[in-house]
Amino acid sequence: MSEDFYDALGVSRNASEDEIKKAYRKKAAEYHPDVSDDPDAEEKFKKVKKAKEVLTDDQKRQQYDQMGHDRYEQAEKRGGVGGGAGGMGGQGNPFGGAGGQGNPFEDIFNQFFGGGGGMGGQGRQRNRPRQGQNLRTRVRLDLEEAYEGVEKQFTVTRPERCPECDGDGHPEDAEVNTCPQCNGQGQTTTVRDTPLGRVQQTQTCPQCRGEGQTYSERCPDCDGDGVVEEEATLTVTIPAGIRDGQTLRMEREGAPGENGGPNGDLLIEVGIRDHDAFERDGDDLYHNLAVSFPQAVFGATVEIPTVTGTTEFEVPEGTQSGESFRVRGEGMPHLRGRGSGDLHV
Ligand SMILES: [Zn+2]
Ligand SMILES: [Zn+2]
Repeated sequence: MSEDFYDALGVSRNASEDEIKKAYRKKAAEYHPDVSDDPDAEEKFKKVKKAKEVLTDDQKRQQYDQMGHDRYEQAEKRGGVGGGAGGMGGQGNPFGGAGGQGNPFEDIFNQFFGGGGGMGGQGRQRNRPRQGQNLRTRVRLDLEEAYEGVEKQFTVTRPERCPECDGDGHPEDAEVNTCPQCNGQGQTTTVRDTPLGRVQQTQTCPQCRGEGQTYSERCPDCDGDGVVEEEATLTVTIPAGIRDGQTLRMEREGAPGENGGPNGDLLIEVGIRDHDAFERDGDDLYHNLAVSFPQAVFGATVEIPTVTGTTEFEVPEGTQSGESFRVRGEGMPHLRGRGSGDLHV
């Protein structure tokens, strides 16, 4: 496995943007090919530069963290990374083929590959079924919940097919006319003369939105959109060992599709609240234990907290302040795997 970007910069995985920028400036000065006589300086310089670019971009950093260094680099070579699914989805279907039906979390680590698709210039074809947009939301958990796994109920406001008109956007008895702007083509073509020659541009007809038809009346509930905002209460099953910032996907819980296309997906970003007793790093936990001077000198058996309760811990004779001990298996459970991380005391 190659050295990852955090190592390249010499920062922790939790480093703030400022820390990353600072570390980058230091490394960049050190490796600058004009300055350094290290024969690999140029390579190293490129790497820290790249590391800074990725880690100071929230979205890229999230992808990087989810995919790991090697997969990220491969994906980027294929041109897949950074397609940007900002905000409320908006992309076609960044996730490619759907996974198994039964378990909505089959693809737990969503790879934000190959965004782009979406509204791009092609001008949508009339009446072609289109998948709805993916939507995003957040759910917050306590560390205990992340440890055990939990079912979380949450509410999202999302677009849903208008019940009044069943998504048509017009009353059933509305009069149908061929769209005057595009003559029923659903697309309009404009030709412009530019310094580079004549450019022909085809776009979706704005008047009928590609449908080729207009209606004498609009549905009053959705104002012709066929879609209304609704509040939905959903329950998501969160697996034990989930980490802060990971994203779960609920298939088909996103925005409704068009022309009979499937719904988009709902992406749920999991946030985990800070805990009084533990710091988390991956699946390992860290606990600061204060002991008395005699306990440190002579050794003692003390109770220490675990996520689910307490356990006994032997403070060895002659322990120095700042020493660290490992309690095996008392960290967070490995996600979808056996065993657990460790507790560092
Ligand atoms: Zn309606
Ligand atoms: Zn039209």
